[in-house]
Amino acid sequence: MPNRRQLLKGLATLPFVGGLFGGSALAATAAAAPAAPVRDYFKELGVRTFINAAGTYTALTGSLMRPETLDAIAYAATQYVNLDELQDRVGERIAELVRAEAAMVTAGAASAITLGTAGVLTGMDAEKARRIPNDMRGIKTEVIIQKTHRVGYDHAIRNCGVKLVEVETAKEMEKAINEKTAMLWFLNYANPKGQVKYEEFIAIGKKHGIPTFNDCAADVPPVSNLWKYTEMGFDLVCFSGGKGLRGPQSAGLLLGRKDLIAAARLNAPPRGNTVARTNKVNKEEILGMLAALENYLARDHEADWKLWESQIRHISEAASAVKGVETEIHVPEIANHVPSLRIRWNQQQISITPDELRQQLRMGHPSIETVGGNESVDITTWMMNPGEERIVARRIQQLLEAAAG
Ligand SMILES: *Cc1c(COP(=O)(O)O)cnc(C)c1O
Repeated sequence: MPNRRQLLKGLATLPFVGGLFGGSALAATAAAAPAAPVRDYFKELGVRTFINAAGTYTALTGSLMRPETLDAIAYAATQYVNLDELQDRVGERIAELVRAEAAMVTAGAASAITLGTAGVLTGMDAEKARRIPNDMRGIKTEVIIQKTHRVGYDHAIRNCGVKLVEVETAKEMEKAINEKTAMLWFLNYANPKGQVKYEEFIAIGKKHGIPTFNDCAADVPPVSNLWKYTEMGFDLVCFSGGKGLRGPQSAGLLLGRKDLIAAARLNAPPRGNTVARTNKVNKEEILGMLAALENYLARDHEADWKLWESQIRHISEAASAVKGVETEIHVPEIANHVPSLRIRWNQQQISITPDELRQQLRMGHPSIETVGGNESVDITTWMMNPGEERIVARRIQQLLEAAAG
C-alpha cells in the first residue's frame, strides 16, 4: 500500500492531473483525503501502549505533546541553525514569557539542576568548566540542603563534584556556611516539611552572597509558579518540560539570574569538554519547549481544571458504586497539583489487592496504568485523552465487582 505522500507524489507526476483538477482542486482533494495510516511502530515492536491514568511519570514516558509542539518540532527538523544562536533567542523569548531575567532550555529538570550547579561553580571561567567534577582546585565544593529536602534527583547536583551538606534549622544553615559553600538548594514541594521556609532561605542566601536554587520540576499547575519563585528571589529555578507543560519529555527550563544562566550555558553543548555535554538538547527540543510553553500559557486553565475534575468524579462515582469501596478526591498542595483520586476498599469483602488490581488494569485491553501502594489504587486524569475516563471507570468498577464475588 502506498502511503499518502507517495500517492500525492504519484498524482503530481501524472501529466494530466494538473489540467484536470487545477492546482488548488488537487490540494483540496489531498486535504480532504483521510489521513494515511502512520506506521505503527509500537505494534511492530510489540511495545504495549496504554491509557495513562497515573500521571507524569518518566517510566511511563511522561506526557503527550500537543499538536502545536509537534509542529514546532517537525519545523525545527527541516533546517540547520546555529545552536547557540537558537538558545540565545529562545532563552530571551522564554524569559520574557515567564518574567525571568534569563532562561535556557535544558534536557529536563534534572539536567537544569546539573547545569545550574555547574554554572554557579565555574562562573564564566572555561578552564574551570573543563575541570569539574574531578579537579576542584579553586572551585567551591559544598552545597547546603535541608535534610527534609533530600531527594534522589539531587544526584544531579553531586554530578558536578560537590558534596551535599545537610542541615535542619536556619541556625545550622548559617553555621554550615563557609568559604567552600557554592549554593543553597531547595526542593519546592518540600517547603511544608522543611524548617527553613522560602523567605528565610532566600534571605540567608542574599546575606552571604550565595546563590539559591529552587527545584520546581513538577510544580505547574498553577501557571503562576512559572514566575512566582524567581520573583520571590531565588537565583535559579527549574521546571520539567515534559510534565505539566507537556513539552518534550527530554526538555526542561532553567530560569533565573542572567549571569548564572550565561555560566550554565558555558557548561552546556555545543561546548564538548564540559560536565553537561551529556545534557544535549537540539533545535527540535528547544523549539518544542518554546511552543509548549506558549501553548500552556495561552490555555484556559480553569477549563482544564474543570475537565480533570469531572473526569475524576466520573471514575470516583463508578468505583464507589461497588459496595465496600471508598474513594477520596484530593489535590496535592505542591507538585502534581491536580485533582487526584484514591480508591480503597475492604480487602476482606473484596478479595483483590491494590497491586493485583493495578496489574489487571495493565493486562486488559486497552491497557491502563495507575499508581499507588499497598493501601490504594491512585489515579489522575490530567494526562488522559478526554473520553478515556469512561473506559477507566467502567473497567475499575467491573474488576472490583468481580472481586466482590
Ligand atoms: C521529575 C522531577 C525531576 C526530574 O525532572 P526531569 O524533567 O525528568 O529531568 C527533578 N526533581 C523533581 C522534584 C521532580 O519531580
